[in-house]
Amino acid sequence: MQFKDIVGQDLLKKELPELMQENRLAHALLFLGKEGTGALSLALAFSQFVVCEKVNRNKAGVDAPSLFGEALPDVAPVLLSDSCGVCPACLKAAAYVHPDIHFSYPVVTKKPGTAPLSTDYITEWRDFIKSYPYGNVYDWLQFIGAENKQGNITANECNEIIRKLNLKSFESEYKILVMWLPEYLGNEGNKLLKLIEEPPPNTLFILVAENESLILQTILSRCQLVKVPWLENADIENALITRHKTPAPTARQVAGVSEGNYREALQQVQHADEDWQGLLREWLNAIMRTGPIAQIKWVDEMSKLGREKQKQFLRYFNHLLEQAVRISAFGDHPQGLALLESMGEKDRDFALRLNRLVGIEQHQAIIGELDNAAYYIERNANAKMLFQALTIKLYHIIQDKIVFLTD
Ligand SMILES: [Zn+2]
Repeated sequence: MQFKDIVGQDLLKKELPELMQENRLAHALLFLGKEGTGALSLALAFSQFVVCEKVNRNKAGVDAPSLFGEALPDVAPVLLSDSCGVCPACLKAAAYVHPDIHFSYPVVTKKPGTAPLSTDYITEWRDFIKSYPYGNVYDWLQFIGAENKQGNITANECNEIIRKLNLKSFESEYKILVMWLPEYLGNEGNKLLKLIEEPPPNTLFILVAENESLILQTILSRCQLVKVPWLENADIENALITRHKTPAPTARQVAGVSEGNYREALQQVQHADEDWQGLLREWLNAIMRTGPIAQIKWVDEMSKLGREKQKQFLRYFNHLLEQAVRISAFGDHPQGLALLESMGEKDRDFALRLNRLVGIEQHQAIIGELDNAAYYIERNANAKMLFQALTIKLYHIIQDKIVFLTD
């Protein structure tokens, strides 16, 4: 993976190469970014950059302009902004087989009764990061057929990391460990503290995390933090158009809904032909007008859609409500007009209708319920019961304003 392969994140793509070439690199880096921001991709591109032969020759001044065959000591090498992509080290790094770049990630037991190691799944891991560099842990555990088992980075894995990093590097100056999701370490992670604090020479830890609060504090405090922000809508829009040949109007709409999360954008594009608004209209009509039989029918249909689509539907509704809240909050302010302008016509009309139906507080109560529902769907809740309960809650929020206001 090279930096040029990554969606957006221009600032980090500029800063990370500088960090390494100006020798400002700590032993342990924590790339902290939510799902779909590309934190893992950045870590992969960065590890390739660190081992790239061209980068290392350049850093040592070997390729600096020379006079009469002598390197000019005063000429600082021009900083490179990406790995070369063609040297033997780059080729190995890009295939994720470089002997000095190690990977740790959550896994489940392959054979009952044995403590799993990340390398049990190394073939799957290579396929996964090549095919789904923006995937999340749910995608990964599905990919290795873990079903509903909880992934872990085990004590055994920590011992293995210590063993590997105490070996001499094979080909590169650095030994690198890329650990994806240290949130899954648990207290086992304390085994790694000494290694992170006093690492063997030329060892680089790259941790890639989504949730700061789930990382052992002792590890967190020893890492140089690299914050990976949400992507810009324009970056997502461009990436969808150029990389996925998504039609421009769809790309624009999807970029708006996915809120800086490229994984989400890719999922939305896959389902771009879904009529979420039609489904939502049917639901609200069943709740407000047509009554229990229509509600049961709708819940039945919804529960058959599958988890990924259910999440997307909730996300669509949530996004629309947030837009509706902003529209009423901004009123005629230029920011509100700009927002209206940026929305697709269908969504704009629908958001305005939602505003006539309920007030801001109710929007916010519904948003809270939708967030909860998405949380439980992610954790395998029974979809039928969940959407049935949600239907009743929405009915009360919308219809029974007094109950809601005293709540
Ligand atoms: Zn290279």
